[in-house]
Amino acid sequence: MSEVAEANEDRRKYEFRKVIEELQDFEGSGTQLVTIYIPEEKLLSDVVAHVTQEHSEASNIKSKQTRTNVQDALKSIKDRLRYYDTTPSNGMVLFSGAVNTGGGRSDMVTRVLESPPTPIQSFRYHCDSDFLTEPLEGMLEDKGMFGLVVLDRREANVGWLKGKRVEPVKSAESLVPGKQRKGGQSAQRFARLRLEAIDNFYQEVAGMANDLFVSKRHELDGILVGGPSPTKDEFIDGDYLHHELQDKVLGKFDVAYTDESGLKDLVDSASEVLADQEIVEDKQQMEEFFENLNTGKKATYGFDRTRRNLIMGAVDRLLISEDLREDVVTYECEQGHEQFELLDSRHEAADSQECSECGQSASAADREDAIEHLMTIAEQRGSETKFISTDFEKGEQLYDAFGGIAGILRYDSGI
Ligand SMILES: [Zn+2]
Repeated sequence: MSEVAEANEDRRKYEFRKVIEELQDFEGSGTQLVTIYIPEEKLLSDVVAHVTQEHSEASNIKSKQTRTNVQDALKSIKDRLRYYDTTPSNGMVLFSGAVNTGGGRSDMVTRVLESPPTPIQSFRYHCDSDFLTEPLEGMLEDKGMFGLVVLDRREANVGWLKGKRVEPVKSAESLVPGKQRKGGQSAQRFARLRLEAIDNFYQEVAGMANDLFVSKRHELDGILVGGPSPTKDEFIDGDYLHHELQDKVLGKFDVAYTDESGLKDLVDSASEVLADQEIVEDKQQMEEFFENLNTGKKATYGFDRTRRNLIMGAVDRLLISEDLREDVVTYECEQGHEQFELLDSRHEAADSQECSECGQSASAADREDAIEHLMTIAEQRGSETKFISTDFEKGEQLYDAFGGIAGILRYDSGI
C-alpha cells in the first residue's frame, strides 16, 4: 500500500470509529433501531425488496409508536439506498431509528457507512433497542495479515488471517504410511520409506506455504504454525519454509485438528502472541519518541507545539492516542492572532477569550475535531500519522501525560 493510501486508510478508520462511538451511545425506547449490513456482492434491489417486506411486516407491531418508528426508519433506509447504483466496495452498513434524546423525546437518526476496512461477510438485518455495531468494531481492531499453517503427518492446511478473518486457501493430504508395516516388509526399509514420505510431505506443505506467502512477505506480519507434536517442531526445525518466511514464524502452537477448523484453532491458540504483535509497531514508535525526548530534541508533544511543528514541516510522524476524542476551538482576535482550546466534544465553547498576545478579545471562529485538524496539516506537509493504542504502558502515558498528541521530528525545530 502506498503511503498516501495508508494515510487515507488511517483517517477513514478514525472517522469510522467516531461514528461507531456515536452510534453506541444511542438507545431506542423500544425495539426500533434498524441496522443493515450489506456485503459487496449483494444486489441492492434485493436489499430494497427485503426492506419493503420488513416495512409491511412492521404493520403488525402492536405499539403504535414503535410501529411508526420502525416504519420511518425503514423508509429512511430505502431513501438512502436510492443514491446508490451498486453496492460500494467491501459493502455498506445502514443505521436508522428514533433514538431517545431525554425527557421522553426522540429524534430520527440515520447513518451510512460505506466501504469498511474489511469486507462485510454476510447480509444482516437487525432490529433492536440498540444499533448493531460489533461487527464493525471488530473490523477496526483488525490489524495485520498473518500466514497460517496447520499440519500433522496426514493432512495440512494453509491460509490467511486477515484482521479477524480466517481464509483457508489450500490443503494437502499425505501418502505417509501408518505406523503398522505390512507383513513381509523389513522394519528398516519400512522406517526409511516412512521417513522419506514424511519429508516429502513437509516439502509439499512448505511449497504450498511458499507459493502463497513469499510474494506477500513484505506485507506479512508473521506466520503461525500449528499441529500436534512433534510434527510442527519437525516442520519448523527442519527449515522447510523459504528462509525469509522462516524468519517470520512467530511461534508454534498445539492444535488438535489440521483441517480447515484447525486454522481457526490455531488463531485462538495464538491469541496472546497476536495481541502482542498488534502493538509491536505502536511500542516501537513510543520507544523512539521517548528516546528522542530524553536524549535529543527531535520530539514534541501537546496540541499547540505539535501543531506549530507540523506547520513548519518539522514532523516526521504524528503520534495520536487511539483514545483521544476532542474538538479544537480556534479563537481569533482583531489583530489576527490565533489561539486554540481543546474541548470535550460534548462541552459548549466560550464565545470569546482574551488574546494571549495582545490582550484584546478573541472570538470563537471555528470548531472541529482536533485529530482531523492535525491530520489535515500532516497530510499537507507529508507527515505520517500513527494511532497509538493505550493497551501498553507507554501508550497510556501518551494519553495521560502528553495529552494524547505527540510527534517525532525530522530535525530540532527549536519549538
Ligand atoms: Zn491578539
